[in-house]
Amino acid sequence: MKMPAILIVDDEPDNFDVIETLLSDHLTDSVSHPIGNPINHQDYQLHYAFDGQKAIDALDTIQPDLILLDVMMPGLDGIEVCRRIKAMPEWQAVPIIMVTALSTKADLARCLEAGANDFVSKPVNRIELRARVHSMLRIKQQYDELQAAAKQQAALEAEKVLWLTQHNSELEAKVAERTAQLQAQTQLIQHNALHDPLTDLPNRTLLLEQIAQKIDRVNDSDKKQYAVLFLDLARFKVINDSLGHIFGDRVLTIIAQKLKKHLQITDLVSRFGGDEFVILLENITDAAEAIQIAENILADFQNPLLLNGYQLFIGVSIGIVLGNESYQEPADLIRDADIAMYRAKRKGENTYQVFDAAMHTQALHRLTLESDLRQALERQEFIVYYQPIIDILNDRLIGFEALVRWQHPTRGFVSPVEFVPIAEETGLIVPLDQWVFQSACQQLATWKNQFPREVPLKMSVNLSAQDLRKTSLVEEIDRVLKQAGLTGDSLTLEITESMLVEDINKTIELLNQLKARKIQISIDDFGTGYSSLNYLHRLPADFLKIDRSFVGQMQPDNRNYQVVSTIIALSNQLGLATVAEGIETQQQHQWLQQLGCELGQGYLFSKPLAAHEIEIHFLQNGGLDCK
Ligand code: C2E
Ligand code: MG
Ligand code: MG
Repeated sequence: MKMPAILIVDDEPDNFDVIETLLSDHLTDSVSHPIGNPINHQDYQLHYAFDGQKAIDALDTIQPDLILLDVMMPGLDGIEVCRRIKAMPEWQAVPIIMVTALSTKADLARCLEAGANDFVSKPVNRIELRARVHSMLRIKQQYDELQAAAKQQAALEAEKVLWLTQHNSELEAKVAERTAQLQAQTQLIQHNALHDPLTDLPNRTLLLEQIAQKIDRVNDSDKKQYAVLFLDLARFKVINDSLGHIFGDRVLTIIAQKLKKHLQITDLVSRFGGDEFVILLENITDAAEAIQIAENILADFQNPLLLNGYQLFIGVSIGIVLGNESYQEPADLIRDADIAMYRAKRKGENTYQVFDAAMHTQALHRLTLESDLRQALERQEFIVYYQPIIDILNDRLIGFEALVRWQHPTRGFVSPVEFVPIAEETGLIVPLDQWVFQSACQQLATWKNQFPREVPLKMSVNLSAQDLRKTSLVEEIDRVLKQAGLTGDSLTLEITESMLVEDINKTIELLNQLKARKIQISIDDFGTGYSSLNYLHRLPADFLKIDRSFVGQMQPDNRNYQVVSTIIALSNQLGLATVAEGIETQQQHQWLQQLGCELGQGYLFSKPLAAHEIEIHFLQNGGLDCK
């Protein structure tokens, strides 16, 4: 630790020695010393100045911890020196003890007023001097320590501030980076929530939001019209099934791009479902503009889509609905565009249909029919009618086709042409067909018992595509036949031509199982579907049933006549028998006989009838003749 430095200011050199002596217990050297040469005691380092100015000048060099200042000096007197030193901020804190022979209260007051901290009166008393020096030095030391501590504290504070500033900016940078990342992630999450992952097109949610906004704007007198287009691809399942889902996915992505090309920036095309797309045209002037866009899209789809060396022709049906004030719910627009799309689909491939109110009524009608249909089986509203099938070469009854009828509690008879497609779409066809099948088998068994014949009667029953898909079909047929006490050879199952296309190998396998039970197979509505000669010859079928639309419009040498004649020839070639549907006139009967058609059914022989009517007209009294 530094030894305290005391500056003694006195014009009288002898006084130095006095003070020196008084301050030191073991003073060895009491000679006066020139200024600046300190005398080291064990306790203090003493410095001397002979006048006030010299003392002030020496402050920087000496760095005194205490000043003993004589009051009475020539030139600057002690009081003035004291005042000046105390006026200098860097020396303000150094305690000054005035050494004075003056001891009046006024003198002391002047000293204190000049800033002196204490005083010692002359002649200097040793104890007093030492006590005062000691006390002042202790105060100075404490002051220095405080200063040092404050300095250290300030340094620490500064360091802390620096550290904080640095860390703060690092933190700020990190926060900014993290915020940017979070924003990007949030945007991605928001994007994904509203877009289809495969095509990146807006999804159903975003579409409905956009339509809702458009509805609001129209309500707020935005007079621009808008339209919703519902697009459904034809036979897309075939692409997926034959070329795989990955290929199918790529096709969908290409189609998404294709559709975008036809739209304005304000329009929106969304992927609505598997192979369904919905377009919202935001700003059209009239219906013609929406139709034009639909036509452009249809024309574009006429071009084959080239992918992996394949040339794909993809059909599309478009339903168009024009927005107006009556639409308040986005879902209603989608519903109506969908209804119109179904209409377009029924008209054929690559067409559009604009929605109109009549379609809505029909759709409602269909909807109620659908819900009624769900209860019809339980409520036993179905009846099986039977239409005789005739050997037309000798007009003998060989059996019946079972045709279901629905006796609706309020609408009366509903045609199967109307409800069978609905039952197929809703899956209700499976239990319905099962019921028809069981009823027809029971009926045949009853008739066989009641009206035994030389040539046993046979029963034809219609099946749907969904029945064929059911794995337990053969098992169920076996069970019902057994229950009714019938053998397979009394049964013909009718499947339509279009049902065969689905999975021909599986169908052939199923038909072979039926064949093994001697059940006969009839290809119904032949000529209206997509049969390929390629697989027709592989089918274990027994009959081709010529669709009634050909028979009904037969005229010698017209196209229908040719078709009928070709089907009969083809049937012969394949070793199958032919059944003609819808024979209504003697003339048709005759032509069919001439062409070699073996079997037939139609109003000429009988309409489909209830069981008891069949009994009256065809079975009782050995009634073999049917005309
Ligand atoms: P389909 O199997 O081709 O049945 C022949 C249809 O032709 C019957 O219509 C029958 O009433 C009608 N028909 C028969 N002769 C004549 C005629 O001389 N002139 C005219 N104009 N029509 C005649 P229906 O009973 O209305 O049945 C329509 C279709 O509904 C059937 O066509 C069949 O595909 C389906 N269907 C009927 N019953 C069932 C069933 O139980 N299950 C299934 N899956 N489909 C059924
Ligand atoms: Mg049939
Ligand atoms: Mg038919």
